[in-house]
Amino acid sequence: MSDCDVLHHCPVWGNFQSHVRAVWINNYCKGPRRERCARLQLIRAGQPVAADLLPNGTRMPVRHTDGNSAAG
Ligand code: SF4
Repeated sequence: MSDCDVLHHCPVWGNFQSHVRAVWINNYCKGPRRERCARLQLIRAGQPVAADLLPNGTRMPVRHTDGNSAAG
């Protein structure tokens, strides 16, 4: 199966810091669930797509990087 046409510029993966990124990509962007991707469906419908929208329709968890956390 070929890769999703927008994989190389899909903004959601640039900010995704988890090791499960590859699992998402293999299942959706390079795999059998692509047609179910919430992002792709919005793109095809000409609708705006939030940068943090994940393929299953949920939002990426927010990471707080305010620099005020106590370290160790
Ligand atoms: S997240 Fe969806 S739109 Fe983005 S590259 Fe993967 S399949 Fe394509």
